[in-house]
Amino acid sequence: MYNLILFGPPGAGKGTQAIKIAQRYSWKHISTGDILRSEVSQGTALGLQVKAVMEGGHLVSDELLIEIINSVFLKNVDAAGFVFDGFPRTLNQAHELDKLLVSLNHSVNQVLSLEVDEGELVKRLLNRAQEQGRVDDTEEVIKNRLVQYHTHTKPLQQYYMDKGLYTEVYGVGGIDDIFESLCKAIKQ
Ligand code: ADP
Repeated sequence: MYNLILFGPPGAGKGTQAIKIAQRYSWKHISTGDILRSEVSQGTALGLQVKAVMEGGHLVSDELLIEIINSVFLKNVDAAGFVFDGFPRTLNQAHELDKLLVSLNHSVNQVLSLEVDEGELVKRLLNRAQEQGRVDDTEEVIKNRLVQYHTHTKPLQQYYMDKGLYTEVYGVGGIDDIFESLCKAIKQ
């Protein structure tokens, strides 16, 4: 089982690329953002719990995220691999993911980080706000999501660098060109 984490700030293109990678390698794509948004739109108990947090651009609690990952992972233990998109987002989540994988004799195999400068990120997120109407894509909330990223998520770079798992890929340009750069970096 190959476990790939697609890493990067909001708007880096993780979702778009994760879908393409999952298709090419026949891996299972896990997007915690998509899972949470679907809970919100279905109005489940979990969705009601996380709606305001997400709309404010804050992070949902580690406990909830870990519960979600455990359940998705355990439903797909036969998968050839996973592409994690939007998870882990905190050091605590990274530690819990390691524990989960180790308990099943697996591990994180690789972390690919999409490198996009902040000006381009804000531009893309504002564009997406117009096109998809995501309620967390307003200027104020975008700023907050970037702050959350720098505070809680960026430290994961060092964590995975120390493990020798971390590679950066330039994330500006055509979707297919970026995809090919990612595939070249995948050691599988
Ligand atoms: P983005 O496009 O900003 O990377 P996502 O679609 O991955 O956003 O996630 C949207 C929102 O869902 C986040 O702003 C956060 O509130 C919540 N969320 C998703 N994944 C996580 C996570 N691993 N930990 C905490 N909150 C998360």
